[in-house]
Amino acid sequence: MPLTVKRPARWSWRTLLPWIVGALPLGFGLIVMNWQIERELRADSQATTRQVVEQIEHILDNLSSTAQALLPLAGSPCEQTQLTLRGELTRNAFVRSTNLFQHNTLYCTSLFGEFDEPVDPRDYTDGTLWLMDGNSVTPGRALLVYRASDGERGAITTVDGEHLLTALRLIGPNQELQLRVGDDWMGKDGLVHQGQLPRAPVAEVTQSSTRYPFSVHGGYSDGTPGQLLRSHYPALLSLLLLLGAVAGIACRWQIRRANSPRAELRRALEADEFLPYFQPVVRKDDYRWAGAEVLMRWNHPQEGLVRPDLFIPYAEHSGQIVDMTRALMLHAAHSLAPYAALMEDGFHIAINITADHCRNFELLDDCRTFLQHFPPGRVVLTLELTERKLIEASPVALELFEKLHEMGVMIALDDFGTGQSSLSYLRQFQVDYLKIDQSFVAMIGGDALSLHILDSIIELSGKLGLGLVAEGVESEVQRDYLARHGVDFQQGYLFGRPMPAAEFLQALATRPGVEQLPQGAPPEIMRG
Ligand code: C2E
Ligand code: CA
Ligand code: CA
Repeated sequence: MPLTVKRPARWSWRTLLPWIVGALPLGFGLIVMNWQIERELRADSQATTRQVVEQIEHILDNLSSTAQALLPLAGSPCEQTQLTLRGELTRNAFVRSTNLFQHNTLYCTSLFGEFDEPVDPRDYTDGTLWLMDGNSVTPGRALLVYRASDGERGAITTVDGEHLLTALRLIGPNQELQLRVGDDWMGKDGLVHQGQLPRAPVAEVTQSSTRYPFSVHGGYSDGTPGQLLRSHYPALLSLLLLLGAVAGIACRWQIRRANSPRAELRRALEADEFLPYFQPVVRKDDYRWAGAEVLMRWNHPQEGLVRPDLFIPYAEHSGQIVDMTRALMLHAAHSLAPYAALMEDGFHIAINITADHCRNFELLDDCRTFLQHFPPGRVVLTLELTERKLIEASPVALELFEKLHEMGVMIALDDFGTGQSSLSYLRQFQVDYLKIDQSFVAMIGGDALSLHILDSIIELSGKLGLGLVAEGVESEVQRDYLARHGVDFQQGYLFGRPMPAAEFLQALATRPGVEQLPQGAPPEIMRG
């Protein structure tokens, strides 16, 4: 129901809300799934790092037991111990080399026999473990060295980095994993680095061995939760998308319903936003105010005063026009009745009605209630029915009009000349007045054919004995022409525009012929 010519804003909360509501299930679902996935990843990360720790402990157990077995030989000459050193290699799958040292000097190795190389215990974390990035035999190749000592003497065993790498790669193929010994660490690239470990963005875990001085650090890369979401929960994701779409559509439907013309009109009716405006109707000869037509205005909270042709069609279509007219009649009665003394007897008050009013007899009560507000005979109620949409001459409608007449209510056929009412129609409904449509009045002084129609209407009303009202009178030429042709009543901007009750009463009070205001007249009608 467009109430203005203003273009509505392109993005308002009404257009955005369904999208927001639609996105909510997906958003909440994703948060919950993400939380669940992170929990699973953390548990996985913990299990994997624990397994890696156990595997490396197992390797170190080999190194340690070999070194412990060789420890009593430390200090003995190399030529006596060399064979034993080599024999240990064949017994232990993980041990790459065995060595003996004395007084901080490596003096015997399984590989070269007699040897001479310094051994610095400070290189070893807790004096036992050293993660080297290679030695003179295999430079650049990772090596984990285990040192067992008994005072100045001891044995050293090594394991190739390849075994460590296999543990990292096989146990946690999808994870980031690093083995850390002291300040050195080794990642899945097999190289030994020093310093800060790289951070794992998701499910970061560090597990330390309780038996050896090393720890394993693990976690997942940034994209892992997203990948898991897509691969593990496609059905749930589709369901959430569907839910979102349903919620969005339902919200849009609800907003549309709440903003439908019907809902808007109901709201306005409850908020008492429909106001009566009054346009004077003058009699011929002296142009004194003989009555007024009640015209509806919508005092809209945002749009201001809205013209009836913008909302009456919707009200008629939805059937709400009956309730709206009832409220309008009550409003008009409450506004005018306290000043009934300003009106001469037989003052005409015209109300516009539609076909909807003629389907039952409720209109009788509405008219009776209206008239009861005034002293008997003070006001004559006239109902205006437009000729543009003729009502059906059903038994109910005919009986209704008969009863209205018995009550003294008059019937005027509005916009006369624009529709197709027949003589029998006028008789059936016992029409009292014809209201000449303003399009014919506007032709006065112009088009000869229209003037001919106007003259015919005037003549017809005379023959049928019907009262005649001309509306849309804007000029003195029109006024004088209509007066010359004996039109009983005139209505138009020339005599007064539709105005609010206070202004109408004020004008009525100050018109020539009205001597004084009634007792207790409120100050607002004195203003202006
Ligand atoms: P209508 O019943 O033919 O009312 C006369 C219309 O002509 C009014 O327009 C009035 O303001 C306008 N008018 C009066 N004098 C002149 C004039 O000298 N020149 C021009 N150009 N116009 C003049 P309004 O108030 O905008 O109402 C338009 C229509 O809306 C009415 O036409 C009527 O059909 C409908 N309407 C108004 N109030 C009600 C109501 O309470 N119930 C129903 N069912 N319809 C209503
Ligand atoms: Ca009218
Ligand atoms: Ca009219």
